[in-house]
Amino acid sequence: MTTALVAGGSGHAGVMRYVADAVVPCDEGGRVLRPGTVEVSGGVITAVGPVDGGAPDATDVQEVRVHGALLPGLVNVHCHSPMTLFRGSGENLSLHHWLNDVLWPREANLTEEDVYWGMTLAAAELLCFGVTTTCEAYFFEDALADAVLAAGSRAVITPGVLQLPGKTSPADTASGEDWWDTRTAEIVDFHARRHGEDDRIEVGFAPHAAYTVPVPVLADVAGEARRLDALFHIHLAETEEEGIRFAAEHGDSVPVVLAEAGVFGGRVLAAHSIWLSAEDLAVYRSHDIAVAHCPQSNAKLASGVAPLVELLAQGTRVGLGTDGPASNNDLDLWEEMRLAAMLARIRERDAAALPAATALDLATRGAGLALGRPDLGVLAVGARADMLAVTLDDPAFVPLLEDAQLIEHLVWSASSRLVTDVWVGGRQVVEAGRCLTVDVDEARHQVEARAHRLERAGG
Ligand SMILES: [Zn+2]
Repeated sequence: MTTALVAGGSGHAGVMRYVADAVVPCDEGGRVLRPGTVEVSGGVITAVGPVDGGAPDATDVQEVRVHGALLPGLVNVHCHSPMTLFRGSGENLSLHHWLNDVLWPREANLTEEDVYWGMTLAAAELLCFGVTTTCEAYFFEDALADAVLAAGSRAVITPGVLQLPGKTSPADTASGEDWWDTRTAEIVDFHARRHGEDDRIEVGFAPHAAYTVPVPVLADVAGEARRLDALFHIHLAETEEEGIRFAAEHGDSVPVVLAEAGVFGGRVLAAHSIWLSAEDLAVYRSHDIAVAHCPQSNAKLASGVAPLVELLAQGTRVGLGTDGPASNNDLDLWEEMRLAAMLARIRERDAAALPAATALDLATRGAGLALGRPDLGVLAVGARADMLAVTLDDPAFVPLLEDAQLIEHLVWSASSRLVTDVWVGGRQVVEAGRCLTVDVDEARHQVEARAHRLERAGG
């Protein structure tokens, strides 16, 4: 909860000084400032420090008292948020059955408005959990961007490149090789029109996977992404079966074949990355491929447990993703933090395998770095003023014997329900647990009605 000590504007004008019971910057030093301050000007952080001497005096400073701990907004590096429309559809299926029999037939009937409302409802859910940035892979990218901007959140939008069975929307007049070229050109055009919009939209490319998109097409798309210095976002090594099938057809693993085809070398984000051999891990290392680790989706679909400790040990950049809300089934990055740490410990049979501070890093600074965005997921000078406040007036934080224990409690005993206030680019979007920017009742009703229509059409 927050209290403005000096009445004033929206947060964009002048300097805002947030004074919190604790500030957890999630920077490299792993500091906890109790109490601490964060200064914001023009949507960017201009100072972080202890209360005394942490910020310069200025006459136009508005001070906001934060009752609780202030952290950077969380960064969800792999999701398909508009799939709120399909939450609960096709439970208890493996990935391939779920995609082919449940999801893709329904997605073939999606409209722009469906995606707008699916993303809008998701944005409200994400913001209330303190997730201020998502990396989205989906279709109808203009509707997605419209929803993100209206909801006041931030996104790296990587439009999907995938031919849905039965429909090739939106470029459904083209066929064969033309389709891929047309779709890639659409994304290049989308990048030209909307990259950098309102300082909250970044645009990349998301060809679905090596088992759904031909390797030469992946190479072409990667070339366009490199030309624009844009993120190339792909599902990679998610199931054992896809790897076996690909190797039988192409003679080697997906990472090795894609590396030889020239797909890597730019800004690459590989979601899942579970079934990796030592040679595959070396490809990740040598091409600086970042990983979107999605432990809950991987567990729910029984896909496997990614080699997180090995990836981190070799210096691979890793962030956490929820994946779509139809395979998770929520967008709660707090759950991912805890599950990532637990699964890593089980896989390594080592209770020290993944400390709480590392788990928190995977949802904050590490996630920003995985996207190639050092300005996200950290409270530091020059970073975007994306922040969340959690109440410390909860049994989860008792006892607090030393500062470092705050991070242990945040990961092991706190949860998204303790997030009270959230800001994106210095603008408050959640206050006392209520989303200020989305009419949540309207979004719920829209998604409910649209989900019923899609269920009838896709069933
Ligand atoms: Zn995914």
